[in-house]
Amino acid sequence: MDLTLPEEVQLLRDSVRAFARDVVAPSAAERDRTGAFPTEILRQAAALGLYGIKVPEEYGGTGASMLAYVTVMEEIAAACASTAVSLAVINLGADCVMRFGTDAQKKRFLTPLCRGDLQAAAFCLSEPHSGSDAAALQATARRDGNGYVLNGTKQWITNGAHAGFSVVFARTTPDGGAKGITAFVIPQGTPGFRVGKEEHKMGLRSSNTVQMIMEDCRVDDSLRLGAEGQGFEVAMAGLDGGRVGIAAQALGMGRAALQEGVRYAKERKAFGKTIADLGAVQDFIADTAMQLDAARLLVWRGATMLDRGLRITREAAMAKVFSTEAAGRAADRMLQVHGGYGYVNDFPIERIYRDVRVTRIYEGASEIQRVVIGRAVTAGG
Ligand SMILES: Cc1cc2nc3c(=O)[nH]c(=O)nc-3n(C[C@H](O)[C@H](O)[C@H](O)COP(=O)(O)OP(=O)(O)OC[C@H]3O[C@@H](n4cnc5c(N)ncnc54)[C@H](O)[C@@H]3O)c2cc1C
Repeated sequence: MDLTLPEEVQLLRDSVRAFARDVVAPSAAERDRTGAFPTEILRQAAALGLYGIKVPEEYGGTGASMLAYVTVMEEIAAACASTAVSLAVINLGADCVMRFGTDAQKKRFLTPLCRGDLQAAAFCLSEPHSGSDAAALQATARRDGNGYVLNGTKQWITNGAHAGFSVVFARTTPDGGAKGITAFVIPQGTPGFRVGKEEHKMGLRSSNTVQMIMEDCRVDDSLRLGAEGQGFEVAMAGLDGGRVGIAAQALGMGRAALQEGVRYAKERKAFGKTIADLGAVQDFIADTAMQLDAARLLVWRGATMLDRGLRITREAAMAKVFSTEAAGRAADRMLQVHGGYGYVNDFPIERIYRDVRVTRIYEGASEIQRVVIGRAVTAGG
């Protein structure tokens, strides 16, 4: 078994690492303070091909593998988690159109997105009263002539205010459960589709999280993504890959936490020596390094299996729960290594500690991942 990255992925990683170091990281603390959306950084990311990493070249994408995607996510998240989540959702929106869109929809939405003509994409599944239980969503899409009229509120929508298009899920059959849901791709500026309240989050503060509100929003049939009633399948199709992607995001944050902790421990002196020489600090560093390496192996396993066309529901859940929890522990331990300085925003560890927390919640909370793993294992998987 070869555990080194293929050469083309290494090349991509090296260029993204340089971009993350030179362009993304320097303004991360400032954007965390102001909450400014990383507009210019994302423009440059699009130019590097990071808006449609898995989108085929014929639609303007990079046509790279899932392994390439997780490698990019780790690098960007190590520099700025807010930028990473914005990019992740852009790629998620692109992925839905890629899998279920018609050729005309791909040309209309993917090509300008990958070119950077659209600032972002959004994925509108969650609602105020449905998150983990996504099939309980209540937004409606009523048939009307050659189109649909949409009503409802979407909650926690990353990139919502900046999205050139949003993939939106609404109910075409009342009480139809998961089978009554249909997906649409709605361009920015469509009458009746507007940005609602912006959330003020503990972390990921320079990512955009808003409500998206539909009030008699009329879309014609050309904006339906997939068949009527296929919406839940559209939402779930990219989920396993999305979970491995979040695992990679968390891994990047955990890696950054470790790097910050080690740097600080080598400089800080107590009782006549650097704290890096203290056994307790060495234990923190050793445990963190081990767990992050294990997380990376789970991330790479999931990505590689997906690239081979294998089903990875169990492996994706394992990667997500393990990596996000390992990264959370990494941030906590490395904050401890900083002592009081870890509790103020003079050092990046305070931001990483806040940013990493949400990775255990979105794209399937840890509790849901454990249900998935438990079911798979008891079923003999
Ligand atoms: C910053 C941020 C960005 C987000 N971006 C997006 C986005 O772009 N698009 C989008 O559609 N959504 C987005 N989300 C929503 C996110 O996916 C949901 O928050 C997540 O799915 C959890 O749903 P919930 O918040 O409604 O919690 P709930 O589903 O209400 O869960 C509450 C608690 O109950 C537990 N729980 C629920 N069901 C079970 C069960 N069966 N077994 C055990 N425990 C259970 C959960 O694990 C959790 O601990 C985002 C959220 C955040 C915070």
